[in-house]
Amino acid sequence: LQPATMEAAAQFFVESPDVVYGPEAIEAQYEYRTTRVSREGGVLKVHPTSTRFTFRTARQVPRLGVMLVGWGGNNGSTFTAAVLANRLRLSWPTRSGRKEANYYGSLTQAGTVSLGLDVEGQEVFVPFSTLLPMVAPNDLVFDGWDISSLNLAEAMRRAKVLDWGLQEQLWPHMEALRPRPSVYIPEFIAANQSARADNLIPGSRAQQLEQIRRDIRDFRSSAGLDKIIVLWTANTERFCEVIPGLNDTAENLLRTIELGLEVSPSTLFAVASILEGCAFLNGSPQNTLVPGALELAWQRRVFVGGDDFKSGQTKVKSVLVDFLIGSGLKTMSIVSYNHLGNNDGENLSAPLQFRSKEVSKSNVVDDMVQSNPVLYAPGEEPDHCVVIKYVPYVGDSKRALDEYTSELMLGGTNTLVLHNTCEDSLLAAPIMLDLALLTELCQRVSFCTDADPEPQTFHPVLSLLSFLFKAPLVPPGSPVVNALFRQRSCIENILRCAPASRFPIQGPDTPWLN
Ligand code: NAD
Repeated sequence: LQPATMEAAAQFFVESPDVVYGPEAIEAQYEYRTTRVSREGGVLKVHPTSTRFTFRTARQVPRLGVMLVGWGGNNGSTFTAAVLANRLRLSWPTRSGRKEANYYGSLTQAGTVSLGLDVEGQEVFVPFSTLLPMVAPNDLVFDGWDISSLNLAEAMRRAKVLDWGLQEQLWPHMEALRPRPSVYIPEFIAANQSARADNLIPGSRAQQLEQIRRDIRDFRSSAGLDKIIVLWTANTERFCEVIPGLNDTAENLLRTIELGLEVSPSTLFAVASILEGCAFLNGSPQNTLVPGALELAWQRRVFVGGDDFKSGQTKVKSVLVDFLIGSGLKTMSIVSYNHLGNNDGENLSAPLQFRSKEVSKSNVVDDMVQSNPVLYAPGEEPDHCVVIKYVPYVGDSKRALDEYTSELMLGGTNTLVLHNTCEDSLLAAPIMLDLALLTELCQRVSFCTDADPEPQTFHPVLSLLSFLFKAPLVPPGSPVVNALFRQRSCIENILRCAPASRFPIQGPDTPWLN
């Protein structure tokens, strides 16, 4: 389709009395139709309902800073390199020809949305990023922390992700970037990480919290930023126990930090970000956002999101199992092996850190199983086994082998086997980009209804980001959606209805309203 590139450059306006493009904001009226279901005497009654929303999206795009915890890791250095390579329009030779910087793998930068049909009856697609004013990725400003003191150029070399020709060109730009010292509490990550911990914030937990907050403020003022988003992309930690009196409420969590009782480094970063009014996103599987941190986010009306980037095997799983069960096949066994040889893999070779990943990878089919009581009796679920092995030789090029076995009609069996090889960090970096851009956009959207004209923002637990997370955090009482295309619809629907009231919202998913 030749016109695709033309559309990429095209401006996008909605001509409708329901949409007003003001100098500061886009205001759109939207009629949201859904259904409520009630049970009466064994009969399900379906009641169509309709709510009129007004969405307001501020048009002014801020100067946005992203602070990465674990900046010198494979993901952190690759994400930074990707933005620099695009900003500098770099190209480099490889054995299969010249490659150019791009943002493949990013929903906002490389995904498209259908606007509708043109006069010839052809569907018109535009890039996701044109639906609402979004920060341009090349304008992001980076900073961050790492327990390893290597500058970003050295970190990029250690990661062994990028072609050498690209590394050489990026080197002078990356060399000047140096991670700030971080909080290292050895018992939370694998013992095999201790050798790189040479860049640490000293002092008590309360002093460390203060230092992180100072770092955020320092970055904001020295880089002249309007907003900062903090993203955890450091090593996977072990789970921390949720204990009444310790971390179950905001007050208890803050007291725990003051008294120097047990708190994980990632929770410390989450608390510091929330106290500084910066959204915090957790790209690893551990339960960083303990109830006390969630309550703090609620009190301060700061967005938080998590957990664990959904990049490879789980993404495929959340499509494949949706397809299998959605087609009426009874999937009974899902077995997933992984081996990888990067530092993440080494950290995950320790049992407690593996356990965090295992839990995060295991719950991803629950909603699909529960959606089909024809196939599954109450409490029945497929066997689901996850194995991760550390094999240094394969480096960042992770292997994921999956076997899905499903029951067919009349006693038949179907077994699907998949082998997925991919550079892990080149999958994760565009997801990190989308997380930052979509979170920032959500901070500029407010809405009200006819019944409740008081403007509201989305719930602080930003479930809209579920598409990008393996184990999505949702507001209390909201259903978790893992199926990938339902998750995508959720983002698309919001982006459609905020500027474009006449587009139909698809699907019943509105956890962002809670
Ligand atoms: P990595 O080991 O290369 O990078 C992690 C970095 O964090 C290291 O540089 C380490 O020194 C640093 N670090 C550890 N503890 C720290 C602390 N307390 N403060 C600051 N820095 C700290 O790992 P990676 O491949 O970049 O992955 C990062 C995280 O993202 C891992 O938890 C991984 O499980 C998660 N993740 C990755 C992917 C993917 O790459 N496709 C997908 C999902 C989740």
